[in-house]
Order: sequence, then structure tokens, then C-alpha cells
Amino acid sequence: MLQVVFSRFCSPGDMKELFCTAAGLQRNTTISLMDVTGAMVSIDPTMPHNTEKCVRPSSCCRRHRRRHGDGRRTLKAEVSNRLAMLEKRVELEGLKVVEIEKCRSDIQKLREEMASRSHRSVAVNPSFLDDSKKLTPRRDVPSYPKYHLSQETVEALRKPTFDVWQWEPNEMLSCLEHMYHDLGLVTDFSINPITLKRWLLCIHDNYRNNPFHNFRHCFCVTQMMYSMIHLCRLQEKITQMDILVLLTAAVCHDLDHPGYNNTYQINARTELAVRYNDISPLENHHCAVAFQIFSQPDCNIFSSIDPETFKLIRQGTITLILATDMARHGEIVDSFKQIVDVFDFSNEEHVTCLKMVLIKCCDISNEVRPTEVAEPWVDCLLEEYFMQSDREKLEGLPVAPFMDREKVTKPTAQIGFIKFVLIPMFETVEKLFPEIEEAMVQPLRESRDRYEELKQIEDATREVRATPEGCFDWSAELLLAAIISHLRFRQVNKM
Ligand SMILES: [Zn+2]
Repeated sequence: MLQVVFSRFCSPGDMKELFCTAAGLQRNTTISLMDVTGAMVSIDPTMPHNTEKCVRPSSCCRRHRRRHGDGRRTLKAEVSNRLAMLEKRVELEGLKVVEIEKCRSDIQKLREEMASRSHRSVAVNPSFLDDSKKLTPRRDVPSYPKYHLSQETVEALRKPTFDVWQWEPNEMLSCLEHMYHDLGLVTDFSINPITLKRWLLCIHDNYRNNPFHNFRHCFCVTQMMYSMIHLCRLQEKITQMDILVLLTAAVCHDLDHPGYNNTYQINARTELAVRYNDISPLENHHCAVAFQIFSQPDCNIFSSIDPETFKLIRQGTITLILATDMARHGEIVDSFKQIVDVFDFSNEEHVTCLKMVLIKCCDISNEVRPTEVAEPWVDCLLEEYFMQSDREKLEGLPVAPFMDREKVTKPTAQIGFIKFVLIPMFETVEKLFPEIEEAMVQPLRESRDRYEELKQIEDATREVRATPEGCFDWSAELLLAAIISHLRFRQVNKM
């Protein structure tokens, strides 16, 4: 049996990394740990001891995206890196080398076991809606005290700079719960706090482990909405019902996303496309799942709300979730542009249009975040795109060039999107809320510049590589060196 003793000075991040490494997963993988009752256990030094009796290796729920191909070598390097770091830490804390050796072999054993297990399971695409199991809360709120958010976290949560990669699902759930309390929604709509917890757990369970469209994406979109509510002082301008709809639509907006977009659904004539007649099949589905969850008394955070108000909340939420279909991007941004100069907060139509633009902004807001937070999302998105294009090729369906692994790179994927989709939309919102200039529009411009620089390097590298062997083109090599030095110079001057 494997025994790992964590020091209380060990950071939750280190512990998660160790679990990931032991399970043969990538560092940023979201993992959940369940106790025997199926409740999630927070991974941190205060977590309860695991005894021999309640060991359930299979309950270390591997909510992750399975990596293809590249794995082994990186994994090996990662394991030895982690071990080296652990060894150092353990030594510092005065444990014996013998124990380190024991730890090392135990981790190795665990890793091998997990690896052999991962070969056995095959992902199956469950049929939509027939699978009603997930809709019923499988787990109840944990019996141990809720995750305590530090004052620092609570403050950071209000800003677009929040590092969304640091948190495990349990912590993200606590953050979401905090937002409902903090905005006064729990009080104003008499939401039962336990129902709120259960509803959020159920939401978590109904996001799939896609590379991109997963629970962390749901969290990001909601957290950005929460940031905008604070930054733009929305609570002084729109009603609490509008705030409730904005936040709830963000939480629900990608529920049960299958990882393949509307184009695939329509071209492959999937069950969803047939059900919704090719009209925003995914968004209609996210919405339907959201209200199936609300239809369960245990998860209905709106149970104290009168039927008339509920109707309005339902309508508002549906409108916002349906607005996240990128096929409607031009239409929605254009109608907002028409009214932004004469915007009237007492005009219901104006406010609805604003809310639609706000959820759209949040949905595609990753590039607003600091580079180190934003960049991993591009890899996740490309992974999901490639998964789709590979499948389309197999099934003989049309493949969009921006999803084709032969045609797209990170800079090419991002530049056009930032320049022609993100910046114009955020600049329009800026007309109404000048306060987003510094916190949101400026980071977008910086990200655009960064990707343009990266593309220059990429192009120059390609030129060097394209030169036939034996007649090395020094001018291309020099060009590359010149560009890199120029960029370094700019970087230094910026600081
Ligand atoms: Zn989304």
C-alpha cells in the first residue's frame, strides 16, 4: 500500500501536481478526489487522512482530458522533476533518504498501475438527454465545512487577472457560491444556501471533460462576468434580476457540451441537430439541460421566486444562452452598435441587448486575462478543434481550415480572432463603460501584439527550415536572429 505523508507546509498546488503525476496526467489536469460517500474532498494539507479502510483507488476520479501520443517522455521527465523537488522538500524537513526511496518506488508503482488502467477504458459518447442519471444529483453537499476562501482570494476573484488554473473543482464551486452571496442574490431571491450548493454540484457534474468546453471554462466565463459586474458597477445600473440572469446564464451556458461544434452537429446530422432543426443545436441543448436541472426541487435555486418572476428569469436566461452561438456574432454586435450612443438603462430592449453582448464578451474573454492564464486555453481549444477535424476527416465531412492541424498554429488561430472579433466588440462595450479600457481592452491589444510577434518568428523559422539541406541560407538565419533581437529590444524598452 502506498503511503505519502504531506507536510502541512506543502501547498495544495504541489499536492495536486503530485496526484496528477502519480496518475500519469498532465500538470494542468483537473482532478477530483472523492470520499467513500462520493463527496468531493478538497486537496490541501488539511484534507482528512485516508485510512486503509476507506482507500478507494478508483474513486480518485480522473476528470481529465486524455493526452494522446506525446505522453511517455514528457511524463517521465515530469515524474523525475516532481520527485527531485519532493526529495528536496522532504530533505529540508528532515526525513530520511530511505523513506524518499520508498516514496519513489511507491509513486512509480502507482503510476504504472494508473497507466495500465487508462488503456482499458474507452470513451463513449453518451446519447443526449437519454442519460438522465447525471441530472439527478449523485452527490450531496459534503459533511465537512465548506472550503474557506481567504480574503485575498475573495478580492482577487473580482478581477479579470484572477488565475483560473490554480483551483480544483471544489474551490471553483466555493468561488461560484461566494459570488451569489456576495452579489446579494441569495438574500434578494431567498435562495436556500444548501440548494445553491447542490445546484452547483449538479452543474459541475453536467459539464463533460472536454479539452476546452469543460467546468473550468464555465467557471472562467462566470468569473469574468462577476469581474465585469464589479468593474462596470452594473449593480447601480441594472436590476438584481438582470444580475441574477447574467450570472446564472454564464454558469449554465455550455452545459453538457459534447466537444464538437454546431457545424459538426449539423453536417453529421447528429441527434441534437435533428432535434433542434439545425438552429443553434448546442446552445438550445445547454439551455434545456439547465432547466431540466432547475426542474428538480433539490437543485431549484428559484423555488422561492413567484411564477411570474420565474417566467422572466427563464426567458432572460434562454435569451442569453442562445446569444452565445458565434454564428449570431455579427447580428448581436451590430444591434448593440446601433444603440450604444443613445443607450438608455431604463429601456428594457437596450438592457437585453447589453446583457447579450456581456455574456458574449465573457464567453470569449480568455485573451483579456494575463498571458500565463490565457495561453493554456489556446492549447485546450486547439486540442478540441483537432479532435473534431480528425473525426470529420474520418467521417468524410467538411473540415474548417481553422480547425485543421495541418493548417493552424497558435498565432494564426489567435491574431484574426483578437483583431476582428474581440477588440471591435470590447471597444464597442467600452463606449458605454470606459472603465474596461485599462482592465480589458489594453490586455487584448497587448495579446494581439504578442501573437503578431510570435507569428513573425514562426514565419522566419519556417523560412530557415524550408531552405534545402546543403545550401544553408544564412540570410534567413540572420533575419530570424534580427527579428528575435528586435523583439527582445522592444520587450526591454516596454519594461
Ligand atoms: Zn462557452
